[in-house]
Amino acid sequence: MDQDFDIRNERLKTDQDFERALRPMRFDDFAGQDKIIDNLRVFVAAARMRGEALDHILFHGPPGLGKTTLSNIIANELGVGFKVTSGPVLDKPGDLAGLLTSLDENDVLFIDEIHRLSPIVEEYLYSAMEDYRIDIMIDKGPGARTVQLTLAPFTLIGATTRSGLLTSPLRARFGINCHLEYYGHEVLEGIVKRSARLLAVPISDEAALEIAMRSRGTPRIANSLLRRVRDFAQVKGSGKIDTAIAKYALEALNIDKYGLDEIDNKILTTIIDKFGGGPVGITTIATAMSEDPGTVEEVYEPYLIKEGFIQRTPRGREVTQLAYDHLRRHRPNSPSSLFDN
Ligand code: ADP
Repeated sequence: MDQDFDIRNERLKTDQDFERALRPMRFDDFAGQDKIIDNLRVFVAAARMRGEALDHILFHGPPGLGKTTLSNIIANELGVGFKVTSGPVLDKPGDLAGLLTSLDENDVLFIDEIHRLSPIVEEYLYSAMEDYRIDIMIDKGPGARTVQLTLAPFTLIGATTRSGLLTSPLRARFGINCHLEYYGHEVLEGIVKRSARLLAVPISDEAALEIAMRSRGTPRIANSLLRRVRDFAQVKGSGKIDTAIAKYALEALNIDKYGLDEIDNKILTTIIDKFGGGPVGITTIATAMSEDPGTVEEVYEPYLIKEGFIQRTPRGREVTQLAYDHLRRHRPNSPSSLFDN
């Protein structure tokens, strides 16, 4: 390995470092989500032309699809400052006031997990978003009074994996609402190749596609699988990632052929083993698994439906033949199962 490569490796010690190094910084580097990107380019250009703050934006969708990345890109493309926080961190209105008053004109404030804001902080946010002002309380007891602070115009970008938990007053205050979708294999293949290039790891097209197909439609997973496969390539191979070493590594790591994770598989086996394959309601499935129904519905189920493992019927969720075949289960009374003779 060359010296550059060693230095880079040394720098990228943690997953966080690794993610940061691979994070696209411009619209042009961001793959997929074409419709959203096309629209955002227009909104950003218009805001720049008018010299105004961009409207508030809500990004929702499962984890690892690029909500934080896109928010960062928007700030870069606007040429403004970017501040990051998250719902659970903003405990008291004072925390939020401190952040808001530190923003410069047209800056972007990113609040991750915005569905986890406390109600009192959320209420505070309303007037900030709407009129760029906040009321703050000074003193306690009889001497208490409020003063109104005017804020610099800013853009709030909220991200959530659980848009169902957002209150309607908060949701209504976002002018732009974007739902991020899972990525197709070709787009993910492109992301894997770009990341490999940035890490200076040679990779074949087929190996990149192999990694992409097992990444559950998620760039964050694609990047972390690439990192693991790279380890195998360096230790067990020549350093180059080809199909053979990619397949070997993914098998060794026990990565499902379809990229399903433990909870995905648990959802499918629960429906099959406890409810005869369905139809069964989402709340019943979640309760049987001791999971939160909203998380199952908003975070896990969309991928299982997209890939054809589950279908929604008027009477509830049903697993498909693909799920039986994937889990090597026998479907009762099914003439078409791969495992029937
Ligand atoms: P989220 O905020 O939705 O959980 P992130 O924005 O943190 O997801 O994305 C996780 C990682 O995936 C980022 O570090 C970035 O490198 C990568 N990533 C996400 N979306 C894309 C994309 N469209 N193109 C390239 N890389 C992406």
